[in-house]
Amino acid sequence: MLLRFKMVEAALNHRAVEVKAPAARPSEYFGEKVFGRAVMRKYLDKPTYEALLNTMDNGTPLSLELADSVAAGMRQWALDNGADHYTHWFQPLTGGTAEKHDSFSDPDGKGMVIESFSGKVLAQQEPDASSFPNGGIRNTFEARGYSAWDPTSPAFIVDTTLCIPTVFIAYTGEALDYKVPLLRSISAVDKAATAVCHYFDKNVNSVHTYLGWEQEYFLVDESLWAVRPDLVLTGRTLHGHESAKNQQLEDHYFGAIPTRVINFMKELECECLKLGIPVKTRHNEVAPNQFELAPVYEEANLANDHNQLLMTIMDKIARRHNFRVLLHEKPFKGINGSGKHNNWSLGTDTGVNLFGPGKTPSENLQFITFLVNVMAAVYKHNGLLKASIMSATNSHRLGANEAPPAIISAFLGSQISSVLDRLERSGGDDALRFDAKSVLKMSGVSQIPSILLDNTDRNRTSPFAFTGNRFEFRAVGSSDNCAEAMITLCTAAAEQLTEFKSEVDAKIEKGVKKERAIYETLKRLIKECKVIHFDGNGYSDEWKQEALRRGLDCETSAPLLFDRYLDAASVKMFGDMGVYNKVELEARTEVKWETYTKKIQIEARVLGDITMNNIIPVASKYEAMLLDKAYKMKELGISYDSDLELIKDIQSHTAMLQRLVRDMIEARKVANRVENQRQRAILYHDTVEIFFDQIRTHIDKLEEVIDDQLWPMPKYRELLFIK
Ligand code: ADP
Ligand code: MG
Repeated sequence: MLLRFKMVEAALNHRAVEVKAPAARPSEYFGEKVFGRAVMRKYLDKPTYEALLNTMDNGTPLSLELADSVAAGMRQWALDNGADHYTHWFQPLTGGTAEKHDSFSDPDGKGMVIESFSGKVLAQQEPDASSFPNGGIRNTFEARGYSAWDPTSPAFIVDTTLCIPTVFIAYTGEALDYKVPLLRSISAVDKAATAVCHYFDKNVNSVHTYLGWEQEYFLVDESLWAVRPDLVLTGRTLHGHESAKNQQLEDHYFGAIPTRVINFMKELECECLKLGIPVKTRHNEVAPNQFELAPVYEEANLANDHNQLLMTIMDKIARRHNFRVLLHEKPFKGINGSGKHNNWSLGTDTGVNLFGPGKTPSENLQFITFLVNVMAAVYKHNGLLKASIMSATNSHRLGANEAPPAIISAFLGSQISSVLDRLERSGGDDALRFDAKSVLKMSGVSQIPSILLDNTDRNRTSPFAFTGNRFEFRAVGSSDNCAEAMITLCTAAAEQLTEFKSEVDAKIEKGVKKERAIYETLKRLIKECKVIHFDGNGYSDEWKQEALRRGLDCETSAPLLFDRYLDAASVKMFGDMGVYNKVELEARTEVKWETYTKKIQIEARVLGDITMNNIIPVASKYEAMLLDKAYKMKELGISYDSDLELIKDIQSHTAMLQRLVRDMIEARKVANRVENQRQRAILYHDTVEIFFDQIRTHIDKLEEVIDDQLWPMPKYRELLFIK
């Protein structure tokens, strides 16, 4: 029997895997695999516990002696919970997480082993990391890099390994990961936002960044996945004729979740809760076999660690249920792709959400101040923000008619829009007549309802939407590390708030009253950032024209977009805010170009192989059968015109395929000879990737006409509907 049919049979036989319901309630096992505060109190003596809390909350450095006591407590807890290894868990620029496990057991020199784990080992490691991408940083400066403990994200146990969240840095101090710049950007926005908060409330000591991600993904039966080389090697289908039924009936979104899937989700959620990930929501997404999972938002660094952790454990658990998780942004043509909405907000240590309308006029002026400054930041760095979410995989989604368009604009909704309009138009031009209270009242700022009506009727086409008490950055890709988007957003906000503060302060120094200085600066900013504000349909062609007219970044080529990181304005912003220096920016863009090239290169090879090894042989076989039939019909004097048409059709597709694959290989050879990473990536984009759709079209046409009994690989209708 054809392998494809065997695998379809195997997939159909995959019954729902029973999951044992946990004996306890979530509240009893939540965080049981995490070295959290309650456990710390149990395993650490009082001075150590207090010192560690001080480090976690205020960043006070921990002495080596105290680190030793923390390590001793952590080791005991880990051993008590079945761990036998430990690892520094970090986020290199390859994407995903890296870990190298070391055993707790050490020879004691007397023929025995003892369990050891010192403060030094906890605090710092030197993973042999020469093969992690670093954009040349470690070649240029220093051959070694080290990982260092991030005490703000608690250690946890996966299987039998104690994982210690760490940063990964070159010896010369440059960041080689996502966590370092994320922490830097969080601290930049903390500083800038706290200073601005002081206009309204002197009691604010710090501002925290919050992130609530919504993870979309596809599930595919593992047997079917295994016979699709494109899925196995690239995470997406490089060919496949559209299924007659896909998402047109819209019967999948929020539909009943199939048992096999719900069992997977239950096990995943249970594991997440044990690891302290506060998962909350699950549902079917728009496309068949597409789902979403979302936790309650958390402090951004922790939330991002949790998302990284989720992506790894999801994969493990899916396999137990004979599924494979596809985190690729566009695994299937013709149906929706997957994203990862990043819900982002800033909150003070006094408990105020700076993006939430307040109760008093002063709170509302503060709210409008932060809202407008975010708009201004997004306007100023719209190209860079797009670059931060751009990748070889996410580029399939952006600009396609379903996901956020490849233009960054911001949605505000009618209520907030009209508040800003009124504020912009309201009086105050005459200094004598200016009265902050009445201006606020007139412009509706003093009585913004705390529940905004637009919150329920949101614009789904906007890549960056204000949704009542937070901004939702929707253009982030499903496989992305959220940090990349968060770093840019936080840094841009930090820079803008800093500039806002100097402008207001300068006015105050000249004798303008504080409220008026704020109001005038806001008025100017509202005018300036109108360009980014768009509440209409982001998918429409008119918007593309309009955005171009407004001067927004409309570039769609990923390699060219990466240039935004090196624009003077970006280098200045990241430098001034202490997030990236020039060397780090150059290294990171280098890695982006290199990764882009590699992804396209792999796809090109896989597509070439599939075409030559699978598709053409099958097409030729069917063609030969038809030829044989036609020949015999001719002998018998029966008309064989329609068979001849079919033969010619198949022949023309296979001939085209052979030519296209040859040309694509040639284009690759030319590109590979180019040393410069940027130039090579551009060539891969402009001269190699352009073959993919053409080749696919011919393969998909062949799939339509060739005998189903011969077609070697699972079809869309099987991949998308068997569960
Ligand atoms: P949606 O309708 O977009 O799916 P949800 O209510 O499910 O919205 O929320 C999506 C995510 O937004 C969740 O992770 C939620 O915790 C998070 N979220 C809610 N409020 C905030 C906030 N103030 N800051 C950051 N994230 C938030
Ligand atoms: Mg959402």
